[in-house]
Amino acid sequence: MKDKCKSFETNCVHGSYDAASGQPQVLPIAQSTTFRYYKAKDVAELFDLESANFMYTRLGNPTVNKLEEKMALLEGGTAAIAASSGQAATLMTVLNICGAGDHVIAASNIYGGTHNLLGVSLAKLGIEVDFVDQDLTEDELAAFIKPGTKAVFGETLGNPALSVLDFEKFAALAKRAGVPLIVDNTLATPVLCRPFEHGADIVLHSLTKYADGHASCVGGVAIEGGNFDWHSGGKYPGMTEPDESYHGIEFYNKFGDVAFSMKMRGQLLRDLGCTMAPMNAYLIHQGLQTLHLRMERHSANALSLAEFLCSHDMVEWVAYPGLPHDKYYNLARRYMPKGASGVIAFGVKGGRKAGEELLEKLRLTSIVVHVGDVRTCVLHPASTTHRQLSDVEQAKAGIKPELIRISVGIENIDDIKEDFDQALREVKKCL
Ligand SMILES: *Cc1c(COP(=O)(O)O)cnc(C)c1O
Repeated sequence: MKDKCKSFETNCVHGSYDAASGQPQVLPIAQSTTFRYYKAKDVAELFDLESANFMYTRLGNPTVNKLEEKMALLEGGTAAIAASSGQAATLMTVLNICGAGDHVIAASNIYGGTHNLLGVSLAKLGIEVDFVDQDLTEDELAAFIKPGTKAVFGETLGNPALSVLDFEKFAALAKRAGVPLIVDNTLATPVLCRPFEHGADIVLHSLTKYADGHASCVGGVAIEGGNFDWHSGGKYPGMTEPDESYHGIEFYNKFGDVAFSMKMRGQLLRDLGCTMAPMNAYLIHQGLQTLHLRMERHSANALSLAEFLCSHDMVEWVAYPGLPHDKYYNLARRYMPKGASGVIAFGVKGGRKAGEELLEKLRLTSIVVHVGDVRTCVLHPASTTHRQLSDVEQAKAGIKPELIRISVGIENIDDIKEDFDQALREVKKCL
């Protein structure tokens, strides 16, 4: 990609779409299900994956494609596949390399939705998962490797436990198993961390969060690093052996460093149809143009609010990897040196009940099941996003009953602090 030589911020603004003379300055929305051809032969080539042109929006669309190119560029990958949601991107990623009888090692403090996807729905399809404590040593983690292990899965910044992934350890684990390291980079975004530079092989995003940034659409993406050797001891026959539905194509042989993406598009977008809509791709592409600025402000506001909460007499504890006393501070310094993103977890004095009350006293801040948009929002995971997990599973996922998650927005920081201060004072009156 010619854009690769430009700096990151410039790629946020300009990357992947350049208007030709007289063409729209802003990425056009190709609101069309299908694409016209004049020769049957041209269409046949599309069906044989011999041509990269568009045929049908379930498999690819020019607007969606520009978003895919931009995400690949920002993460430093070779190719990307957009999906209808973050969940769909995770689903397709796992199914692209795992089938019944295969096994995944996943950090236990990953996003609750991913926990359910792996532990409930994919388990029903016969894919086995071990959720592991990511603070175990590499040798302890290696004890979970089985002959059927096909992937190691972690989150750069765990949502909402706010753990930082020890990339060195997890990349070494994946190498030892001969499998790709899949990293969900949703909360860090490529502004704050680029997982491919630290040993990841596949990077996932829920684009619904900071990438969109304005809480206007749901979307996801899977990005390929292009360095993994899919021959890996014959573990990935789907990559290396002929696919009869494409006249015997061998994906790795034919497509090399974009084989993972081509297989996902050719088989899983084709068969599952969890495609991103062109309108959503347009909106997310728009959001990405300010990603670098927003992440800077989200991180600065969050650090300032975290410090304020630490000094507040109504606050029991604060977890934010940008705070020097935080358990994950050193990992955050190493892997997210430009900022620790916009999400804070904290416990208010008075436990779960006081927590629920606090939420209702906030005025500027809204209660929503969301992170990563421009507005400050809060959520009580134990009674909402993680309520389907047992108490033991919640504890394993790092969710305490009193934990309140704040997604710090980009408003004026004094207004945000004032809102939490008045709400905490109200809760104190009720104690
Ligand atoms: C929200 C989220 C997801 C799921 O994404 P959707 O777009 O809601 O399907 C996956 N991982 C993380 C870290 C998330 O925050």
